Amino acid sequence: MPIHPDESTDHGLPVDGQATALRTIARDSHPISRKDISPNALRVLYRLRDAGFSAYLVGGAVRDLLVGGHPKDFDIATSATPEEVRHLFRNSRLIGRRFRLAHVVFGREIIEVATFRANVDDGSGDRELHEGGRLVRDNVYGSIEDDAIRRDFTANALYYAIDDFSVLDYTGGFEDVRNGLLRLIGDPEQRYREDPVRMLRAIRLAAKLGFTIEPATAAPIADLAPLLGESASARLFEECLKLFLSGHAVESFLGLEQHGLLRVLLPETAAALASNRSGALRRMLLEGLRGTDVRVANDEPVSPAFLFALLLWPAYCRTLMSLQAQGMHAAEAQRRAADRVTLHQLSVIALPRRFSLPMQEIWLLQSRLSQRQPKRVSRLLAHPRFRAAFDFLVLRQFASNEHAEEVSFWQDAQAMAPGPGGEGELPVVEGEDDASSDDAAPKKRRRRRRRPVASE
Ligand code: ATP
Ligand code: MG
Repeated sequence: MPIHPDESTDHGLPVDGQATALRTIARDSHPISRKDISPNALRVLYRLRDAGFSAYLVGGAVRDLLVGGHPKDFDIATSATPEEVRHLFRNSRLIGRRFRLAHVVFGREIIEVATFRANVDDGSGDRELHEGGRLVRDNVYGSIEDDAIRRDFTANALYYAIDDFSVLDYTGGFEDVRNGLLRLIGDPEQRYREDPVRMLRAIRLAAKLGFTIEPATAAPIADLAPLLGESASARLFEECLKLFLSGHAVESFLGLEQHGLLRVLLPETAAALASNRSGALRRMLLEGLRGTDVRVANDEPVSPAFLFALLLWPAYCRTLMSLQAQGMHAAEAQRRAADRVTLHQLSVIALPRRFSLPMQEIWLLQSRLSQRQPKRVSRLLAHPRFRAAFDFLVLRQFASNEHAEEVSFWQDAQAMAPGPGGEGELPVVEGEDDASSDDAAPKKRRRRRRRPVASE
């Protein structure tokens, strides 16, 4: 949706990358309408305003509404402290240590309400920088201007005001959204050093919005990429899910590759792709990601286990080949390769066991798909991970033309398998009926003692 021509006042362009003046875009000069905003978010905004606080819709929601998208969540910024928000809403709770926030809960919808925060060191010790400039705590309340410039991209720093429905712009974000540009606020290198995950956010948001990363924002990424390896591995896991399971996996992957981030995030896969001269593994990977995007677009569930099986398949194949070249027996080499690749990857991305185990099963089942003895066939068909493993086999055809016969064998086997619904249906294990079910925890499972990750 086009954004209306600018008829606003107070052109406040960033000086040295910092916001200086406010530009107000009046209601008739932007396309955001209340009917596109979650009624619960509106409720929160109105109640805050009626209690005398200022309250704005902010961040991704404003950005997405400006480009005609449908925000997946609505965040609010306010002058009220978390405790004041807590008192105003019985259905709220306070969360977070690093950022204290209020969540206002409406059934399944959660509206996040954050107090304006600053990104400045006021000497209170509430903001700490690690060596290298990494931000480890920032809990200093501030003005709305402070709140705007501590955000990452100008497109994410726009405020929709509930009192007059205008959009407030302290960083030039309105213009940038109109031009499809993703621009970091402030000095890009410093902002990446504060929080290296911003590099991934740049790639992800550019992929999602179809935006261009503005040159000065893109320039430092390749050099600073290694900093990403120091980010918390649990956070990198979360970011990976957003990168690859939000419907823009192909574009995200290409962006990571182009900006030198893939070799930090998935080092063994990047190395395996580089040494795979035919490009077959990359073709398969991209095809798998394309399939994931299609599933997301169709509102079909997608599974982290399948995703990581795909992302780490080149690494697995490479490790497997080298173990076999050393003379290791195939079955043993497969297990070792699966463990080794998982273990190495865990040092960057904290892939939880409930995903890494089915991921490994998908790999290990690949060799079992060449077994055709009737007993083994029916056992395999009943395997909870069969469907995912079969879908994976189908994808492998993009890397090699050796699997066509196997694929059609298993297609037939599935069609003929007796099932609860009669002929033609697979025996379905509850909650595990397709590749997407890996993330649904099996319902009846014995509690297992957690083993330390390193022993996996
Ligand atoms: P999405 O569409 O994925 O939700 P988003 O921009 O809303 O994108 P969130 O993680 O929900 O992303 O963050 C909400 C807002 O918080 C952002 O729009 C941005 O203003 C701010 N923000 C998030 N992460 C950072 C960060 N690492 N550094 C600075 N500001 C951030
Ligand atoms: Mg968001």
